[in-house]
Order: sequence, then C-alpha cells, then structure tokens
Amino acid sequence: MALSPAAHGNAQPPPRRAPKVLAGQKALVTGASSGIGRAIALAFGQAGADVVVNYVANARQAEEVVEEIRRCGRKAYAHQADVSQEDDVGEMFRRMMAEFGTIDILVNNAGLQRDAPFHEMTLSQWNAVIGVNLTGQFLCAREAIGEFLRRGVAPSVSVAAGKIICMSSVHQEIPWAGHPNYAASKGGVMMMMRSLAQEVAPHRIRVNGIAPGAIRTAINTAAWETQEAYQKLLTLIPYQRIGQPEDVARAAVWLASDDSDYVVGATLFIDGGMTLYPGFTTAG
Ligand code: NAD
Repeated sequence: MALSPAAHGNAQPPPRRAPKVLAGQKALVTGASSGIGRAIALAFGQAGADVVVNYVANARQAEEVVEEIRRCGRKAYAHQADVSQEDDVGEMFRRMMAEFGTIDILVNNAGLQRDAPFHEMTLSQWNAVIGVNLTGQFLCAREAIGEFLRRGVAPSVSVAAGKIICMSSVHQEIPWAGHPNYAASKGGVMMMMRSLAQEVAPHRIRVNGIAPGAIRTAINTAAWETQEAYQKLLTLIPYQRIGQPEDVARAAVWLASDDSDYVVGATLFIDGGMTLYPGFTTAG
C-alpha cells in the first residue's frame, strides 16, 4: 500500500546528493563566470572536481563561482584569460600545472555573438566570433591534449587519459540568418571536435560536444525577456520550455565522467527538441 505524504508526517525527503563521479579530477572551464560555464563549474565542484574558473571580464562573478565551489570542499581559483589569445591560454595552462599539477577535464565553453546581416557584417565582427568560439577552442584543446598525452591514464582518477567537452550549439546544424559568423564557428567546432576525437581516441582521450538549444543566459536575453519573445521562442521548442544552465551542466558531468566512457566524438543535443524541425509538426 502506498503511504500518503501525511503518513510520513512533515518530514521532507533528504536532499538528493549527486554521487562524486568526478572525485579527484582537475577541470578547467572556460567562460565560467556566467551562464552555462558557471553552472558546469559548480556542478563539477559538487561532483568532486577541483576547478579552474576561467573568465575574461567579470572578476567578481568569477570569484563568486570560486567561493561556491570551495564551499563544496573542493579547490578552485579564478583565472583571467582571453581564450582567443595564444599567450593568455599558454599562461592559463602553465598556472594550472603549477597549482593543480595536471588537467583531467577541459570544457571549451567560452563563446560570444556579434550579429549582423551578412552584407553588413564587418571583418572585426566575423573575426571576433571565429577567434573566441573556434580558435579559442583549438588553443585550449591543444594545451590539454599535450598534457593528457604526457601523463597518460591515471587509473585511480579515471579510465580515460583525459576528456574534452566542446560547447557547440544547435546552430552547428540549423542555419541561422543574421548570425553567419556564429553558425560557421559552431559548425567548425563540430568538425574540429570530431577530427580531434578520431585522432586522440587511441590514446584513450575522449573528445565530445554539447549542442544546446535555447538556454536562459545572458547571451540570448532578447529571446526570453519579454512574454511576447518567450511565446515566439516556444514555437521552436517541442518540449515547451526554455532550457536552464543546469540542464546542460548535468549532461556535462556525465560526459566528463567514466559513466560515459564509450562515448567518443559524439554531440549531445540538449535542446528540448529544437532540432526536430518543429515547423513540420502540422505540415505533414
Ligand atoms: P554567457 O554569455 O553567459 O557565457 C559566455 C561566457 O564566455 C561569458 O562568461 C563570457 O565572458 C565568456 N567569454 C567571452 N569571450 C571570452 C574570451 N575571449 N575568453 C574567455 N571567455 C570569454 O552565455 P552562455 O549561454 O552561457 O554561453 C556559453 C556557451 O554556450 C557559448 O559557447 C555559447 O555559444 C553556447 N551556447 C549557448 C546557448 C544558449 O542558448 N544560451 C545555446 C547554444 C550554445
């Protein structure tokens, strides 16, 4: 017989504690002072990882993320670096080797948009997006792979020699008028991720991608801040809600953990069905 909630008195179920699937691992999350990167950094800390919180502009927000991770009993520090700059990235990894000794997980999350109609887009808008979203991922992944290859598998930490998660977007697949630089950068991320995954898998390094749909963060405020905009957005989402950064963070923990050990070169779409062509729902 099922007990009614009253039969338990007012006792609340104990809070669900996530297993420490990343215990002892050292992670670097780029663009981690806000949005999806922040949620991933926090979830990694809760899952037992020590975390470098990379940021480019907002030191105070980055320090708040660091404090919250430390409250989980893990090590963390904030590091300012522009991921599109080779020297900045080199210095970020040198410091991580000095402070944490190694890296087990890289999350290539930093990204931005500089939107314009194609014929009005400046070279600087084009280069800014390609520089951060694509070249930034290349520069960080190159450093991480070098360390994974040097160290190899540390069996007490993970069955893999290292894991990289590349933050892509549904726009690695869905064309996006008015955002050609962004869509091109994410299409590039997808093929860089898959080519790299193929190259380093024999070394037991796993490289995968996450392609979010619409997630409620600062990057897409215009899409959800008014009721009218939100209703319009929902026409693109079969699951009928916007995503939260935590929706992505939970998947990132799994992709970084040994629970996903046979997942190599895959893109995990976290989009409430946005890539299911919802415009065709009633057009059959
Ligand atoms: P966000 O703006 O909150 O996060 C982006 C972060 O990247 C910011 O903290 C920003 O400061 C940082 N950043 C920008 N340029 C940088 C640089 N040169 N060096 C280091 N950091 C830099 O937005 P978000 O939605 O959390 O975006 C995170 C990632 O998710 C991005 O790659 C974005 O393209 C991707 N994404 C987001 C959505 C969404 O709906 N929010 C959908 C698909 C993909």
